[in-house]
Amino acid sequence: MLKKIDHIGVAVQSLEQVKGLFAAVFGLEPEFEETVEEQKVRAAGFRIGESKIEFLEPTSPESPIAKFLEKRGEGLHHVALSVDDIVAVLGKMKAQGLRLIDEAPRTGAEGKKIAFVHPKSVSGILLELSQENS
Ligand code: ZN
Repeated sequence: MLKKIDHIGVAVQSLEQVKGLFAAVFGLEPEFEETVEEQKVRAAGFRIGESKIEFLEPTSPESPIAKFLEKRGEGLHHVALSVDDIVAVLGKMKAQGLRLIDEAPRTGAEGKKIAFVHPKSVSGILLELSQENS
């Protein structure tokens, strides 16, 4: 059911700063960079082997990432697992009584189907399920 860690999401104040750092230290450019309107964030993902680190900068004070930064400052926001069938995994989780933030998948960065599971149900980790669009 679970294929790999797709990415780790990190909340930041400034994407420009992170991009500058990755370019200077690792010679690495983002594999993708886009605004996700639904989440009111700008996201930039750097590929590291099979996985990515995705940095998230709020585009509005209403963004969940803006609220996260206000409360906790910059840092680890979520872990995303790649799955084959997101609807099936969500159904299994729901059947086990886990607290889902998204009962149905929605569209995330790179056009993937994503859904979040509440940290209270997953040992304090905000878990994202992610399915490639095929
Ligand atoms: Zn993510």
